[in-house]
Amino acid sequence: MAATTIGVLALQGAFSAHSTSFREVGLKVREIRRVSDLEGLGGLMIPGGESTTLLNLMQDEPWFEALRRFHDEGGVLAGTCAGAILLSREVRPRQPSLGLLDAIIERNAYGRQVDSFEAAVDAPALGGPVDGVFIRAPRFQALWPEVEVVGRLAGEPVLVRQGRVIAATFHPELTQGLAFHRYVGDLARKTKGARTPHRPSRKPPAQPTP
Ligand code: GLN
Repeated sequence: MAATTIGVLALQGAFSAHSTSFREVGLKVREIRRVSDLEGLGGLMIPGGESTTLLNLMQDEPWFEALRRFHDEGGVLAGTCAGAILLSREVRPRQPSLGLLDAIIERNAYGRQVDSFEAAVDAPALGGPVDGVFIRAPRFQALWPEVEVVGRLAGEPVLVRQGRVIAATFHPELTQGLAFHRYVGDLARKTKGARTPHRPSRKPPAQPTP
């Protein structure tokens, strides 16, 4: 079987550290700068950076349409920090998003006094704590029942998964650990070819319980 190739969106932000981590877990990596580069990928990482800047840069090509189609056709989409913002269904303050993760997310939600910090995220499904750097990080304000919490910080969800979508509010790529990238890579290998389009949840959302 051909090796799975993972794409790392390379328009803006912390993409090269993601590429290094994916290579270290044995995946082929392609940095993605054009919609046409998505062809043949098993998954795509949308890195952290600044979501407003990313949105501006994405106006040059039909990125939203292409990423939704990529997901519908079986691709895994992962996002860290600004990437998680872009994947969510609703963003506060309001801004456009892909809406592939049934979550409400608030930008820059830790306040100025803790703009940036490093912490161990409790993630038993990933084999134990995962180190993460939180940089002007967002917070999930609500999650719909279809969303599985994979990692918590002080009881609060910071790493979640819904089907083929994975979102972390922090930067795992800026630490030594590779568990997060292995997790994304395994999902990309496993779900290759699964074609179930995303239908937004109709159930009421729940507040994350710390
Ligand atoms: N604060 C950024 C935003 O709103 C996210 C920060 C990050 O990706 N490290 O997009």
